[in-house]
Amino acid sequence: MKRTEAIELPAEEIAHQRALMREFAALESRPHTYCVVTYGCQMNARDSETLEGMLSEMGMTPAASREEADFVIFNTCCVRDNAQRRALGNVVWLKELKKTRPELMVAVCGCMMQQPGMGEQILRQYPFVDVAFGTHNLYRFAQLMLQAVRTRRRVVEVLGDDEGSIPEELPVRRSSPTHAYITIMYGCNNFCSYCIVPYVRGRERSRASARILEEARQLKDEGIKEIMLLGQNVNSYGLDVEGELSFAQLLAALDGVGIERIRFMTSHPKDLSDELIEVMATGKHICHALHLPVQHGSDRILASMNRRYTRERYMERVRALRERVPDVSLTTDLIVGYPGETEEDFEQTCDLVRQVGYDSAFTFIYSPRVGTRAADMPGQIDEATSSRRIQKLIAVQKEITRERFAGYIGQVHSVLVDEVSKRDETQVAGKNEYNITVNFPGSRELIGQIVRVKITSAGESTLRGELAQQ
Ligand code: SF4
Repeated sequence: MKRTEAIELPAEEIAHQRALMREFAALESRPHTYCVVTYGCQMNARDSETLEGMLSEMGMTPAASREEADFVIFNTCCVRDNAQRRALGNVVWLKELKKTRPELMVAVCGCMMQQPGMGEQILRQYPFVDVAFGTHNLYRFAQLMLQAVRTRRRVVEVLGDDEGSIPEELPVRRSSPTHAYITIMYGCNNFCSYCIVPYVRGRERSRASARILEEARQLKDEGIKEIMLLGQNVNSYGLDVEGELSFAQLLAALDGVGIERIRFMTSHPKDLSDELIEVMATGKHICHALHLPVQHGSDRILASMNRRYTRERYMERVRALRERVPDVSLTTDLIVGYPGETEEDFEQTCDLVRQVGYDSAFTFIYSPRVGTRAADMPGQIDEATSSRRIQKLIAVQKEITRERFAGYIGQVHSVLVDEVSKRDETQVAGKNEYNITVNFPGSRELIGQIVRVKITSAGESTLRGELAQQ
């Protein structure tokens, strides 16, 4: 059932939380410096910018290092087992440090914490963790910290799915002067069989388009050159709210704001509409780069994954996109070793990758997540087979990337300069419109500018060039 408006937290609640941030800042004995450790996707990176905004309003400043911080918070990911192990490994590392610095405060939040039973596990197994919370109560961070400091007792709070209202007007500390993330929606309704995200990020909730447009205008005024629109599945933006803009309409409206570059992720192929393709083709500021996760090349496996498109439908969308946006740079996500995957299924993935010709691909070995349908499926693939398959797939894609990148030589691209090369002070680097890193001779003064660069050579994952006539 569609909502009549975006499901926002009441303004009074946000005002209350901001008052608690100031109350925290006024405390005599409290941590003064912080370190935020972020794992996982860009949505987590955006949440960490909100965490840093709240920590600043709580009177805290970034520490020079994790070891020196009075307060360390881990914003975790659980999309794959190794992401969760890495986070927990780093949390445990602080146990020793806390023995020498008992006043050190430690917190854990994010997707890993939202998993059923994780709160209790933290309480039982990690006695040195002071505060832990999930993805639906990030906005209550100051309240939980105040409680922990005042009571000197541990605070663990994980809210249920139905409490996933959208917090607007929380403070934010952006991580770049030229790039900015704008979260346009939260959650996912797709329940792909291997994916834990719908269980830890909740149902799809779109932000009000008026809020998103206002945020973009503010960012433009602050000199931001590039925005990345974020959502688990941005293509279904607005579908949960009566009368709200569609994603294509939102993109067209944002194009009118005049920020030089607009990117978005992640797109689900089943919702890649002709309307969206048309806006990409005609938009003035929309980058011709699309991340379109296919995950697998076999229809049998795609059906088992509950991806709700066939290989042929995916290829049809790719053809439709390339017809209207011939220079589009396509990237994707691919899983090998999914339960029941035969050698023939795997070869279909390799074949699809050759057919599409992606600029690059993120390849993953299937990782069973407790609570997902695929985790209990028969036919789990052994590690040796999965490793052999992923090595082959990486080699197939590497060859394609080499050919695609060679095709860029001689072209002139626009590059948003981000930094001076770490290895060579006379070189600068930045992303071109296809989201590929380009290195070229230039000075620090170019940072933050969009310049024209002629591509002269191609590396395995980056391009090289020289400044062209501006
Ligand atoms: S679309 Fe599928 S893979 Fe992506 S977040 Fe949703 S459930 Fe996970």
